Amino acid sequence: MRFEEFTTRFVQQTGKKEGPISPVMINSASFGYGNSETGEGIFDGSVKKPLYARMGNPTSGQLEQILASMDGGVGAVAASSGMGATAMATLSLLRAGDEIISIGGLFGGTYSYFSETLSRFGIKTRFFDVDEFDAIEEAINTATKIIFLESVGNPNMRLPDIKRIAEIASRHGVALIVDNTITPLSVAPLSLGADIVVYSTTKIITGNASALGGAVVFRALNEGEDKFKTDRYRDVHPFVQKMGAMALIANAKKRALRDFGMSANGFGSYLTMLGLETLPLRLDRIVGSVERVAKALHERGMKVNHPSLPHHPHHERYLQQFANGCGTLITIDLGNKEAAFEFLNRSKLMTITANIGDSRTLGLHMASTIYRDFDESTREFLGITPGLVRISIGLENPEEIIKDFLQAAHI
Ligand SMILES: *Cc1c(COP(=O)(O)O)cnc(C)c1O
Repeated sequence: MRFEEFTTRFVQQTGKKEGPISPVMINSASFGYGNSETGEGIFDGSVKKPLYARMGNPTSGQLEQILASMDGGVGAVAASSGMGATAMATLSLLRAGDEIISIGGLFGGTYSYFSETLSRFGIKTRFFDVDEFDAIEEAINTATKIIFLESVGNPNMRLPDIKRIAEIASRHGVALIVDNTITPLSVAPLSLGADIVVYSTTKIITGNASALGGAVVFRALNEGEDKFKTDRYRDVHPFVQKMGAMALIANAKKRALRDFGMSANGFGSYLTMLGLETLPLRLDRIVGSVERVAKALHERGMKVNHPSLPHHPHHERYLQQFANGCGTLITIDLGNKEAAFEFLNRSKLMTITANIGDSRTLGLHMASTIYRDFDESTREFLGITPGLVRISIGLENPEEIIKDFLQAAHI
């Protein structure tokens, strides 16, 4: 089975041997300190107790530890949503005048956050395809603070060479943030050279549409040389001095979580842990089904886009660097909007929604929904054709999914 190492770890980390077995759900917004000395200690960091739920909640704290160990990070910070996680990771490092290099994808919310929102605060983003290595390297200058990469293009299904991009980031001393929402367990960004990983836990990690959430996982700072100790990241230096290996977490908590408040809530984190327990099993099943469904539909003449298919431009990369699959998504181009609508409406299995990574198979027409406000050239860059349907394969019997899709497409 894929992801075998995580099966034992997750159930052992979420449950306890004594007392309540299910994670303890603490729903308090604030916490009593007992006495003023303890209060002072909590605020100066010498006492490790909850301060106030915006700065952290014990239930979310358990989730943070599990996610940090999942990716080999020094720690994690849970967030209110995936966009909250992206905002936390980026806003904690940026100031007006800085630049972002965004590669691949791109999830619609992240695209508009960079292009419409951060631009209003004097932060410029330049967008590149995953294979534009030379242009990416040439675009790096002294103002570049972040290289942002999605582990799988959603919905263009293009796969990045994460290691090669991490080498470029490292050569120029620029932070690499990877949005690994689509490929938890399958891709380990920190071991490939990324500095920070962001997740929308709303998707496959929780896996059942019960909780909106996100998380940011940070690597430990090196004892000797480290890109965050250079002049480019001087805003982080006070935290490097005080917190050492944990500097990026302290920086994110003070510079983003405290002041913007994209904090996770205890109930959401509890539901997320219940989902996380079965993530390896669900993902193993779905990654297998995705390959089967993509192959069967392709053989019956449907225009399927998935890197497991030999004609996909990143098929070799899929085999070499994505041995455990690239998540739950496939896309199908039905040719035009009318045919796409008919296909979605005729399917008996699909739930039509903007979500992905669920137990159930989900589908959505891209151009009329998430990408409706984008102009023609942006849609083209993001791979949004008029008949494009994005599908997130679920836990159903793959043979039934294939049968349903073929009847929906009149095949
Ligand atoms: C859904 C998603 C997000 C945003 O997550 P929310 O929890 O909806 O805020 C970010 N990145 C990717 C790749 C996503 O699929």
